[in-house]
Amino acid sequence: MDLGIAGKKALVCASSKGLGRGCAEALAAAGVDLVMNARGAEALTETAEAIRAAHGVTVTTIAADITAEDGRAEVLAAAGDVDILVTNAGGPPPGVWSDWGREDFIKALDANMLTPIALMTALLPKMIDRRWGRVVNITSQSVKAPIPALGLSNAARTGLTGYVAGTARQVASHGVTINNLLPGIHATDRAVALDGGVAKSEGITLEAARAKREATIPVRRYGTAEEFGAACAFLCSVHAGFIVAQNILADGGATNATI
Ligand code: NAP
Repeated sequence: MDLGIAGKKALVCASSKGLGRGCAEALAAAGVDLVMNARGAEALTETAEAIRAAHGVTVTTIAADITAEDGRAEVLAAAGDVDILVTNAGGPPPGVWSDWGREDFIKALDANMLTPIALMTALLPKMIDRRWGRVVNITSQSVKAPIPALGLSNAARTGLTGYVAGTARQVASHGVTINNLLPGIHATDRAVALDGGVAKSEGITLEAARAKREATIPVRRYGTAEEFGAACAFLCSVHAGFIVAQNILADGGATNATI
């Protein structure tokens, strides 16, 4: 399917690896020029080179922490006006409710709620002026069904979800859509880190921890960054203009809910 977005420009945050990279690759395959970001310059440069070589699009890289005010300012200055924004950052650490104090919540809110809000605040006005724009926020299945070990994520991402529910409906008449894409478990470094925690706490191998989790997913496997990226690119396409303020699960059926 022609996504109809060749020649547009996207800022894809936290995209040297994992789900962000999957989104960047799928947008590049649709002919979208990219501004890519991550903290580590080496992996970012390598990924950008691979994408340029594979898809022939323009790729600008900015190595900066997207959750820090100065890092975000650097990224926004380099990006200029964009047609498409994909927000993403690392997820908060696991733990239990009694582990977390105010500072932990402030950090999680900064990274997974206030950062995407700041990026939207900066970039929506030009999308509105041009009467076309797409925003996809990478959140988590924890928004639909809380993950006990990820209370910081449950809280911060749900705050973002409430913001999007209201804001998306205010900008939709200008041809700008905002939606959230909710990953369940995908085979990325984050999944390895979470499985590592389970392996350690339960005294089992990493493989056993993964197999145990896979058994809980109706498709019996982890998702791939490619599958996730394809869903993101569709939401950014000309065909998705009537999809507004949605929270779309990509979780292999793991969230056991009717709606
Ligand atoms: P990942 O494989 O660990 O990749 C994270 C990417 O983000 C890397 O490119 C990393 O590069 C970059 N990054 C992290 N923190 C950053 C920051 N502060 N500023 C700029 N770049 C940053 O993670 P992932 O699995 O793709 O997960 C992406 C998001 O989805 C996370 O918020 C995660 O919690 C959420 N999620 C993931 C899953 C899953 O199963 N994978 C499930 C639910 C939710 P640098 O380290 O070099 O900065």
